[in-house]
Amino acid sequence: MPARQMTIRQHLIDPEICIRCNTCESRCPTGAISHARNYVVDAETCTFCMKCVRPCPTGAIDNWFEVELPFTLAKQHGWQRLPEPASSGEVGSQPAEALDDEAAQILEIAHRGVGAGSRAPVSAAKPRVNTFTRQNPARATVTGNARITAKDADSDVHHIIIDFGAEPFQYLEGQSIGVIPPGTDEHGRPHAMRLYSVATARDGERPNTNNMGLTVKRVMARRPDGSLVPGVGSNWMCDLEIGDELDVIGPFGSTFLLPEDPMVDVLMVCTGTGVAPFRGFTHRRRRTSPNGPGRLYLFFGARTPEELPYFGPLQRYLQTELHRELVYSRLQLSEREYVQHRLRKRADLVADLLSKSTTHLYVCGLSGLEDGVDEALTEIAVRHGLDWASLRSEMRDQGRFHVETY
Ligand code: NAP
Repeated sequence: MPARQMTIRQHLIDPEICIRCNTCESRCPTGAISHARNYVVDAETCTFCMKCVRPCPTGAIDNWFEVELPFTLAKQHGWQRLPEPASSGEVGSQPAEALDDEAAQILEIAHRGVGAGSRAPVSAAKPRVNTFTRQNPARATVTGNARITAKDADSDVHHIIIDFGAEPFQYLEGQSIGVIPPGTDEHGRPHAMRLYSVATARDGERPNTNNMGLTVKRVMARRPDGSLVPGVGSNWMCDLEIGDELDVIGPFGSTFLLPEDPMVDVLMVCTGTGVAPFRGFTHRRRRTSPNGPGRLYLFFGARTPEELPYFGPLQRYLQTELHRELVYSRLQLSEREYVQHRLRKRADLVADLLSKSTTHLYVCGLSGLEDGVDEALTEIAVRHGLDWASLRSEMRDQGRFHVETY
């Protein structure tokens, strides 16, 4: 029998999915991640600390190859996509799915050790990912585009419906998709992909339609000289007209998913357009198990009711269908309130939900939200004889705690 050559594990970033948001590079404590053409990982400096894994919005970061010779940075910069397991040119390269049992266990423990590797809820349906790529995107047609914040509100948020016609685009609530604005950037390169959460249940805006809704806020972008200009992606999306066509990539994401089990309670905490996946969750629950017994709880923050996306449609739910805590930070005659303040005000309800071994907790929105919610839950837990730090890692291990913040 030929001797088996020693292999090492190498962390790699999928250039096809990566949206070049720089999150991984900014979180890497050892400087192992850098970028030029692609975002790349230096095999000599990467310590597998996993600090880059959870914040990555697309999952492009989460690739682990067993190689005899690590891929050089120059080689990684030349990739359009990750190499095929057998045709990589590096003897013995293979993706993490093919690791032997021991290596797979090490990887699993490494994820668990830092609490980084988020898991899908046990009862969630299995998601499809990367069905459509930059090279092979799905073509969609805009069938609706409506402003969902008040006409005179500062924040201009749109609900945009795109339809895939005869081409099945299968996704689950909580997954994201990518779109590529037409044209090129200031360097003459195609624009980077923009990522949006699907705001619709898996069977479409209305049951049995092959479409999806997206929640898009028109934003300004800051130029290197400090001046503000309309953001390319969000403005293109918000200006789309019915009948316009666009390429769609994805779907992405395999953990921020809704449990199928109708018995479990779901606690959702979000700000602004971070509500998008929770609209999908709510529609799915309403269609499949409207009478529970598991219940939905939504803590949702915006500056004013006029700026709260989907304010009107949200009023149509009974509190028993969707328990809502709508929270405003800039009402003229009231003190600033954030969702974490409201969590504290509803401490008994929150503690009751946390103490159930089946509750699923989701946090989605601005990046500062994660720490704020964490502090609030720590306080609530202490007051109710719970330990949030250990509960959090237990919930994460069991696929019951999910964060998606940008
Ligand atoms: P926004 O309108 O800027 O803010 C919503 C509310 O959050 C405001 O009341 C704001 O208060 C408050 N807020 C600010 N900092 C906070 C903090 N540290 N903790 C708690 N609340 C805080 O929100 P947005 O522009 O829509 O941003 C939503 C985020 O969700 C973005 O980062 C977006 O990338 C992300 N997201 C979007 C999607 C999507 O599909 N579009 C999906 C997932 C996530 P003040 O302004 O008064 O301070």
